[in-house]
Amino acid sequence: MAPSEKNIGIVWFRQDLRLADNPALIEACRECDAIIPLFIADPMEQSVSELGEASCVWLHHSLSDLQESLRAKNSELYLAKGESLAVLQSLIEKTGANRLFWNRCYDPKTIARDTEIKQTLSHCQPRTFNGLLLQEPWQNLKGDGTPYRVYTPYWRAAAAKFHESPDLLKPGKAPRTIPALDKKTRAKLKNMSAVSALELLPEKDWHNALIDYWSIGEAAAMKQLKRFLKNAVSDYGDARNLPAVEGTSLMSPHLHFGEISPRQILSALTKEHSIQSLPDDETTFAKEIVWREFAYSLLYHFPHMPNEPLDNRFASFPWRKKTEAHLKAWQQGRTGVPIIDAGMRQLYATGWMHNRVRMIVGSYLVKNLLIPWQAGEQWFRDTLVDADIASNSMGWQWVAGCGADAAPFFRVFNPVLQGEKFDKNGDYVTQWIPELAGVNPKFIHKPWELDEQSRQSLEYPEPLVDLKVTRQQALDAFSTIKGTK
Ligand SMILES: Cc1cc2nc3c(=O)[nH]c(=O)nc-3n(C[C@H](O)[C@H](O)[C@H](O)COP(=O)(O)OP(=O)(O)OC[C@H]3O[C@@H](n4cnc5c(N)ncnc54)[C@H](O)[C@@H]3O)c2cc1C
Repeated sequence: MAPSEKNIGIVWFRQDLRLADNPALIEACRECDAIIPLFIADPMEQSVSELGEASCVWLHHSLSDLQESLRAKNSELYLAKGESLAVLQSLIEKTGANRLFWNRCYDPKTIARDTEIKQTLSHCQPRTFNGLLLQEPWQNLKGDGTPYRVYTPYWRAAAAKFHESPDLLKPGKAPRTIPALDKKTRAKLKNMSAVSALELLPEKDWHNALIDYWSIGEAAAMKQLKRFLKNAVSDYGDARNLPAVEGTSLMSPHLHFGEISPRQILSALTKEHSIQSLPDDETTFAKEIVWREFAYSLLYHFPHMPNEPLDNRFASFPWRKKTEAHLKAWQQGRTGVPIIDAGMRQLYATGWMHNRVRMIVGSYLVKNLLIPWQAGEQWFRDTLVDADIASNSMGWQWVAGCGADAAPFFRVFNPVLQGEKFDKNGDYVTQWIPELAGVNPKFIHKPWELDEQSRQSLEYPEPLVDLKVTRQQALDAFSTIKGTK
């Protein structure tokens, strides 16, 4: 580099929409004389950047928040739509940028694309970092160097490592200043700073109602974490199973878009105790954060996980053939089984569903309706604000019994018993299905057992299928592949 030449660095934001604990940004600010923060909308099929409608809405607001935070530091987020390599090349040409920084993603399509970009733009010395996970997927392996397929030993190894090296849980501070571009270069990019140009918001304004449930962005994520740690974590072990209670952290969309990092969360959780000596409820919460890591490890080592069963016996599972009407009823929360319908309506209204209920609606779709888990995965991908290629496909394969460390297929959730156990008085059900308000709690999870007159006065569908009969059909279907390899 000639003595007068300046380092102009592009920081390519992806699943890391934050300033604090953002290793790519922190390093770029250290090395460069000027920074170009950039986001590219480049929806590649079957990758982390292929977003469903609900996630697009979240992304719009998250980018707007990041834009505000950067402006507060006299910087600017530049936004572009298109194929990533072409956008980067054009930006480099326009600005003379000679450095490139990003935090890694771990799905196979993005890895392949990023590898190509790294090679093509090698003159910009691309540097990549881990801003998404506590450990790289290739760092926590079994003694023989192969990936874990069972969660408990994965967790034990991770916790032991964090105990030994607590620095791994130390988040980086947001850069105090972000080196600004000169006026001339800024002028060249002035058409690139409107989030609205990405057209992420749908034309119909249903998204305003969804967004009312959430506060989006880096500061909001940290505030929510603090609220959870202060008010709810000490009862997490029990309350996390009760869908009517706000007993979980609601961190998932913030984590998915990287408004907060898992390191920031575990660092806050382990302020007073090491990870191996946390009280029980806190340990349970830490384990959930590490489940997310496990999902990314599986995705990295088994890149076909989003589409194909990890247990290949399931490749020949006899799914039901004609499923359109049942799938629609499930999606719209009209199955006639209250806990299922409540969950599906919560999902549609808020973009989120309680974990216990995700398991129940998943089991019902795959086992009682014999619809392939991929159809559920796809619907979740389109409607969840936390839709995540790793956690979603792991979750669906877990539910379907074909994943790593999954619930065995023959364990069919009974949605009535699940409802009676985890939503005893029907508070969750009536919150999302007001038609059932006033029903005797004894029948709230099985309104079909009400006397004829009371049932007829309810504007609520009869059950789509018989739970007992379909359970047996599921077990019969499973018996056809059980012994195969
Ligand atoms: C069928 C199915 C699909 C799912 N799809 C997704 C998805 O697309 N995106 C997603 O983030 N989670 C998914 N999950 C996992 C889980 O339901 C959500 O992470 C959780 O409900 C989010 O709420 P929370 O942030 O309040 O969770 P908390 O209970 O507060 O947990 C804290 C964090 O731990 C992580 N976590 C918790 N449980 C799991 C889990 N089972 N697997 C992986 N990570 C976990 C999440 O990042 C979560 O934000 C799915 C689960 C199932 C059964």
